[in-house]
Amino acid sequence: LDWGHERLRRRVQDGIREVRFMLNGQLAKLRKELSEKRPSASEIDGRLEGLAESVNEIIRLVGVEGEALAEAGGAADWRRRRLSRLQTELVNRIVKLQNPQQCQSAKKLICNLNKGCGFGCQAHHVLYCMTLAYATGRTFVLDSVNWRYSRGGWTSVFEPLSKTCTERGSAGAKQWGSTGAEDAQLVEVPIIDAMAHKPPYLPQAIPADLYEELSGLHGNPFVWFAGVLLNYIMRPNAAFQRQLDDNAIRLGFAKPIVGVQVRRTDKIGSEAAFHDISEYMVWVEEFYKTYELRHGRPDKMRVLLATDDANLLNEAARRYPAYTFLSDTSSSRSASVRDRYSDGGLRGVISDVLLLSKTDYLVCTFSSQVCRLAYELMQVGRDDSSDRFHSLDDVYYFGGQLPLEVTARFAHKARDSSELDLSPGDVIGLAGNHWDGYSLGQSRRLGRNGLFPAYKTELVVRKAEMRPGL
Ligand code: GDP
Repeated sequence: LDWGHERLRRRVQDGIREVRFMLNGQLAKLRKELSEKRPSASEIDGRLEGLAESVNEIIRLVGVEGEALAEAGGAADWRRRRLSRLQTELVNRIVKLQNPQQCQSAKKLICNLNKGCGFGCQAHHVLYCMTLAYATGRTFVLDSVNWRYSRGGWTSVFEPLSKTCTERGSAGAKQWGSTGAEDAQLVEVPIIDAMAHKPPYLPQAIPADLYEELSGLHGNPFVWFAGVLLNYIMRPNAAFQRQLDDNAIRLGFAKPIVGVQVRRTDKIGSEAAFHDISEYMVWVEEFYKTYELRHGRPDKMRVLLATDDANLLNEAARRYPAYTFLSDTSSSRSASVRDRYSDGGLRGVISDVLLLSKTDYLVCTFSSQVCRLAYELMQVGRDDSSDRFHSLDDVYYFGGQLPLEVTARFAHKARDSSELDLSPGDVIGLAGNHWDGYSLGQSRRLGRNGLFPAYKTELVVRKAEMRPGL
């Protein structure tokens, strides 16, 4: 602790007090006026806008000071070092599991890469298989022949998942969950959506032996766990890495930079709603306002724009001339036409995901697997970065996951029939966050759905025994 730290602490506390004064004082004044002289709608609107501006400004300042406080005294480095040690430990276990001394007789878990969906979805399928392999102490063998994206299979772009053991062998495999499968040498795993009895180590569970340290260090331990596994799974091979590096240089990738991913084409109307570029840019603007308060004016306000909509870059550059947009248009073009599932489309989407994961802040829709993949990878090698995103739609989730739950820290009395009563300790199955202060969920105690103030709850971090058998 030093004086700098103490100054920050006081500023945070003062800022919170000023928000209270500003909000309560100005609202009281407005209510008084409303009862006495009936101001016009536009006068009220102007007053509310002024109030919102002031309150947001104070909150932004408190946010900046809170951020500085979180890093003071070397705390950020300390967290980064500890997370990095945990990562090394986890990766060492995986490498050991993936390279058994006797490949011939090792117990294996086999997954087929050809889940009928896009790359983000397939990468999550591979992650799910890797998690099952880790939890059951089996070597993971990925079968990627006839991959829709590339004839050369997985290793046309990535390193193999093992140096010594990539063949399934000739013995017959048992289906996951069938009788005798637990002891069988080879087990084949279905896609997560088809899994009948879900074991406790499915997403979003983290290994029980990492729980204490990880939930202390990170705001969303499962996302970190997923990121570390994916970072191992998706190691570009040397030739592809050179391409990626060239691409980053060609685009002018540098900090500060905000990642924006806009998922459109076939997703709109079926799985997600259309969002205008302005909805994303609100968050980009907020990031740079905050950035400037802390670090001064940046040389450029960079935005990495990844999208499957080939027309968006022109529109964005025209409407937001103050920003420098970096966009790999060859990949968005190929994403929106027939060769999307080709080798070129594959390299484009991987490049976009990896670049998004290296940005300072991510704005996207979590309904897209491309965006969730970038968010997971973003956690690797950094201080806790669980809050460096804004999703315009869903909360973070993993398709096929065990129920996502929050628990009530404080009591709440429902204000109308759309809301839920909360008692401390209540468990609520989370259905979504409206990003307006309220979340939607099912109270396990009351057996009914409703809205509740998100700030009165916290995420339940699931843990499960996972036995890599090392
Ligand atoms: P989701 O459909 O958005 O949940 O994600 P998937 O990865 O399962 O399928 C979408 C596919 O569309 C991707 O694999 C890409 O081929 C393409 N795509 C979507 N968004 C982008 C993007 O931002 N950049 C690129 N290059 N391709 C994208």
